[in-house]
Amino acid sequence: MPTSAKIIAASSVTRALSVIGDRWTLLILRDAFKGAHRFEEFRTLSGAARSTLTSRLNGLVENGLLERVRYSESPPRFEYRLTDRGRSLYGVTLVIWRWEHRWGPSGAGIPSYLRHNVCGHAMKPDLTCSGCKQHIELKDTSYEVVAGSGRVKASKPRFRRLSSITVDNHRGANDAFVRTTDILGDRWMPLVLSAAFFGLRRFDEIQSGLEIATNILTHRLNTLVAHDILKRCQYSDRPPRFEYRLTEKGRDLYPHALLLMQWGDRWLAPSGGPNLRIVHKTCGTYLGALVTCSHCHAAIDPHDVTFPPSIARKPKTEATS
Ligand SMILES: [Zn+2]
Ligand SMILES: [Zn+2]
Repeated sequence: MPTSAKIIAASSVTRALSVIGDRWTLLILRDAFKGAHRFEEFRTLSGAARSTLTSRLNGLVENGLLERVRYSESPPRFEYRLTDRGRSLYGVTLVIWRWEHRWGPSGAGIPSYLRHNVCGHAMKPDLTCSGCKQHIELKDTSYEVVAGSGRVKASKPRFRRLSSITVDNHRGANDAFVRTTDILGDRWMPLVLSAAFFGLRRFDEIQSGLEIATNILTHRLNTLVAHDILKRCQYSDRPPRFEYRLTEKGRDLYPHALLLMQWGDRWLAPSGGPNLRIVHKTCGTYLGALVTCSHCHAAIDPHDVTFPPSIARKPKTEATS
């Protein structure tokens, strides 16, 4: 078993977060999957300021997740459509819904169910191994760093000033995912969480594993503890020392981390392929995670899911939910 720091360095999680580790980007993707194409639709649904929306849409186009398509000649007008690379993040969107549905406050505008149009039933998205069709849990996975890849230095996420991701900025936003994006829509937070999934518990281990500044790490750990995703446990009396352990709520974010890594492996891996392989210990195969319907167990395609009216596409004039 390679060291946790080596696993983090080899994983695609940092690369994936450099593309979508931003709350507005996650909200725009949410809305694209709900059928939004045009600037004003994204603006109404996300509540983002024009300048913020412009920069995030441009970033999504540059990174190949959306394409900008002209739909009117005169006047020239454009809309944004998901590419294959963008569409393959649908599973990430679904597991965010699942987590928020389970752990978010009730009555927060989160749809109570999703409908799988293929089987016609209300469903929850499950994370399933493509090899053995069993549910995937954190305890059933292990990691192999690909021989010869050596230690690949993780590219550092750029530090985003917190003022750009404050909670007050989304007035008018659709409620669903807003709380989750407060946690995941930041490049460091999911990275700190990934360190926990890879088995790092102590401040110094996480700090050196991620090569993260201590003040940033302290802030992110405190936030994760405040959200009950990590708990701070004393493991030594003299001197008093603490470590950070995942709660059940925290472990339930593993599907998000796993799908993010898988997406990064597929679309952003260095030439020669991904440096980290995840093994499903249950069946012994390299893990391919599928998001499947809890009712009929079929893999879910973006066109096959209906969100009920509470967060279905809204008319342009509706600014608040
Ligand atoms: Zn399996
Ligand atoms: Zn189904």
